[in-house]
Amino acid sequence: MKSLGSIRRDFAPWIDPASSPFLQFEGVTKRFGDFEAVDDLSLSIFESEFFALLGPSGCGKSTLLRMLAGFEMPTSGRIVLDGEDMAGIPPYRRPVNMMFQSYALFPHMSVKKNIAFGLKQERMGKGEIADRVEQVLKLVKLEDYARRKPDQLSGGQRQRVALARSLAKRPKVLLLDEPLGALDKKLREETQFELADLQHELHTTFIMVTHDQEEAMTLADRIAVMDKGRILQVAPPAEIYEAPKSRFVADFVGNVNVFEGTVRSATSDRVTIETTGGFDIVAERDVPVEIGQTVSYVLRPEKLKIAAEPLSGANVMEGEVWDIAYFGPVTSFHIRLDTGAIVKVAMVNATRQSPLQLTWHDRAFVTFDEDAGLVLTQ
Ligand code: ATP
Repeated sequence: MKSLGSIRRDFAPWIDPASSPFLQFEGVTKRFGDFEAVDDLSLSIFESEFFALLGPSGCGKSTLLRMLAGFEMPTSGRIVLDGEDMAGIPPYRRPVNMMFQSYALFPHMSVKKNIAFGLKQERMGKGEIADRVEQVLKLVKLEDYARRKPDQLSGGQRQRVALARSLAKRPKVLLLDEPLGALDKKLREETQFELADLQHELHTTFIMVTHDQEEAMTLADRIAVMDKGRILQVAPPAEIYEAPKSRFVADFVGNVNVFEGTVRSATSDRVTIETTGGFDIVAERDVPVEIGQTVSYVLRPEKLKIAAEPLSGANVMEGEVWDIAYFGPVTSFHIRLDTGAIVKVAMVNATRQSPLQLTWHDRAFVTFDEDAGLVLTQ
């Protein structure tokens, strides 16, 4: 059987009928006045899962986290964590902790005191506090920085202090609101791996809110793509990317070409789509469609092949090189078809010297396999 993506995942309780969810949102709605920020949303998250809520600004991600943390109350519906209904339980009594994007560190306190603060408030004994602080500092590899103040640390180190502080209380669920948003790109990539390793080591359930799809893809076991207070799809990263259920998900996660068209003919395993761009697409049929039905064909840029010479066969398009961008690992081409439509192609630079030489305004030919893209009806 062909699988999506190249990572074999051994952790997948969501497909195991014997495992039950650790956290459940059951028909949760949150209204602010007559505005519905979260709309009748149901979701199950499993113990030790790294779960990401991904969606555009204002889609309700933070509201969902805030309801779980107890900072907001659902207008209707239930949140059940580890068998316990969270209704009426104040934030400080919930077994969850939240790490904010701003980190909210106390500037006048040392790293050690920042971490100990929450534990002191819980009236934990001095010895135990010292043990916990030492343990989490070790976990985030900041043992040598315990006496520093936040302004004597780099952005990445501050992020780790905030993480250590939120882990010190040993929450059952750690909530991360844009956890790496304040870091620059390079540091963010390094920190992503550290965060993933740490979560793996701790087995704590992490729920992260982000609008950065790469971050969600790198870190999460599963991603929920949200829009307008609803969840559109919940799946592991490779499934979200390679098998999006809707145009919104395909478009929101990664780059995509969308061809609109009408089904002209269909057999049991193949469908021919007459696109509005004037060319036909022959595609694998993976959803039920009817002749005459309006559909979209979504195709990731790296699934297309580009050539300087005419190509034959099905699924060939011809146009003019409109834009080229060299990114190092890939080169991105925008090919303008004679109809004016732009087709995006990403060519992987698998060798240092490319056999393909194209420049602006050259004629170019693109093609793709029948199973390269997806037929979508919504
Ligand atoms: P972002 O990525 O920008 O943080 P988000 O997906 O986290 O966005 P939320 O903060 O959950 O979005 O907000 C969802 C919607 O609810 C937004 O339209 C927001 O304006 C609205 N909203 C959130 N809190 C309140 C509030 N206290 N009163 C009124 N409207 C609110």
